[in-house]
Amino acid sequence: MIILNNKKLNLRNFCIIAHIDHGKSTLADCFLDLTKTIDKNKMKHQYLDNLAIERERGITIKLNFITIKYKLNNLIYDLNLIDTPGHIDFNDEVKRSVKASDGAILVVDGSQGIEAQTITNIKLAQKENLIIIPVINKIDLQSCNVVKTKNQIQKILNLHPESKIIAISAKNKINIESLLKAIVKKIPPPKQILNKAFKAYVFDLSYDNYKGVILAIKVISGVIKINEYIYLNNNEKKYQVKDLGIKTNRNVYLKSLQSGQVGFLSAGIKNFSEIESGCYISSEKFLNVNKNKESKKPMVFCGLYPLDSLSYFNFKKALEKIQLSDHSFTFSKENSKILGHGFRCGFYGLLHSEVIKQRLEKEYNLDLIATNPNVIYQIKLKNNKIITLNNPASFPQLQEIKEIYEPFVKLTLISPKEYIGKLITLCQDYYGIYKGLNIIDDTYQQLTYLISFNEIMVNFFEKVKNISKGYASFNYEFIEFKKSNLTKVDILLNNDKIDALSFITRKEKAYQRSREMCAKLKVVIPRQNFEVAIQAAINRKIIARENVKTWRKDVTAKCYGGDITRKNKLLAKQKKGKKKMKQIGKLNIPKHAFKNILQQ
Ligand code: GDP
Ligand code: MG
Repeated sequence: MIILNNKKLNLRNFCIIAHIDHGKSTLADCFLDLTKTIDKNKMKHQYLDNLAIERERGITIKLNFITIKYKLNNLIYDLNLIDTPGHIDFNDEVKRSVKASDGAILVVDGSQGIEAQTITNIKLAQKENLIIIPVINKIDLQSCNVVKTKNQIQKILNLHPESKIIAISAKNKINIESLLKAIVKKIPPPKQILNKAFKAYVFDLSYDNYKGVILAIKVISGVIKINEYIYLNNNEKKYQVKDLGIKTNRNVYLKSLQSGQVGFLSAGIKNFSEIESGCYISSEKFLNVNKNKESKKPMVFCGLYPLDSLSYFNFKKALEKIQLSDHSFTFSKENSKILGHGFRCGFYGLLHSEVIKQRLEKEYNLDLIATNPNVIYQIKLKNNKIITLNNPASFPQLQEIKEIYEPFVKLTLISPKEYIGKLITLCQDYYGIYKGLNIIDDTYQQLTYLISFNEIMVNFFEKVKNISKGYASFNYEFIEFKKSNLTKVDILLNNDKIDALSFITRKEKAYQRSREMCAKLKVVIPRQNFEVAIQAAINRKIIARENVKTWRKDVTAKCYGGDITRKNKLLAKQKKGKKKMKQIGKLNIPKHAFKNILQQ
């Protein structure tokens, strides 16, 4: 299948956006099915979620695109669809998706109504001037309230009260045809600028072992052909185009791609450091004016360590491979006294870190320990130098520190109004700074706080869900580094500082958290031939302490009398376990003991 140069194409480029679980991927399935893009026998639920972890968890993590052929009034349209993730950690994927689109289908689950991420995504689409087609989904459900949801949407999008909103069931494929028609009618075709040099927006990257980096592009102007050369952002080096095409039910290789088209391109780029998603490419040298300034940097860091130190090499390889498919996370070498050799990894958020850890364990058969997650800190030293740190262990001495700054986010909570009071109390407990309360409709309200990201990272959102019986939704965005009353707590085992257990905390919470940490350690540290002192210290001043009494565990204790082979088995098991033990000073502690401590 070859498209001739400069042929006028009937194109529509759109993305599907929504709060998590409102039915984006299921709707994408409907389009693929109805337009017969995917054969019935090859069709599967959430077709575009093709990462194993996406399928296992049932959530979209990465954007995915596909071209659908759709016939209307005897014209064939190429509809370029981008399915996007809904969770806040993957917002950057949505940003790039809307940038590659001219319109957005906004899916709102009619049994939930507008949620926090709905509003964030609307704002992203509006910023790029996209035509938004709102859709109410899940009308097959009893709990779906079309009228209420319609009112919310009209209010938030500033629509006329008489305006029509299509109501569908993606699950039962109701009203999908009228939505396809609306896409063609309402979303403008992309500008087809053929008389200018080739320029394209790179909205995603993936990696192929043979072809190198594969770019997902939206062509902004001109035409690009096989064997022609492209320049990357402000890069002197040029690359020869090897493959071009569009993605339908398979990769369709083409001789050229032209203005307005969405497709893939590879040019033998072997290294991710040469290119960044969200950048531009061109057939001419161009200045770095459009560099993706907003590209998100990792905000959450933790150490990842293999339980079995023999797998260190495999672990490193696995990290490199995962980074090829998810280049948004970072890693660098790190060593720890108790955990051995590992890596400090950076993520967008906690879900992102969980997903990557799970992928490493499942896809590469690794058993990993993650240290407690922490955010990035900025530290102003006494000499007024400012340093940025992603690891509590590498904090300077407290006497060198003048001020500590931590990231603050703008937190938005949308909740039925009866829970707002309790949510305000919760935010206050987490040292939030109140910013405002908006009325969404007669039942829902929106609460805004400026709050420390570190404070809300653990447990906060579970509490929000509990308080609101699952009805409140949240969203947050990084705003600034703010000075906070923080300190570093060291944990000592028999006077030996254990780096992986150090943590940063608000001074008010230091005593309580230290006592909790010591108590937890007391439970997991096996008794030794001598007494073990567990201590928490701020600047060498001990603020909490527990003791582990002397005594070696007798693994055969529960094995009364009888068969010697059973005893031997238990002893052999103990011996094997000991191999994994780490010697800390004179202490013998199995690595996995720390697993429970470090994962709250
Ligand atoms: P996404 O996170 O927005 O991509 O949402 P999914 O497409 O993964 O759907 C989330 C859940 O809602 C899945 O369990 C779907 O089966 C379900 N779902 C999607 N559309 C409908 C619908 O129209 N009706 C019903 N009852 N369930 C739906
Ligand atoms: Mg999805």
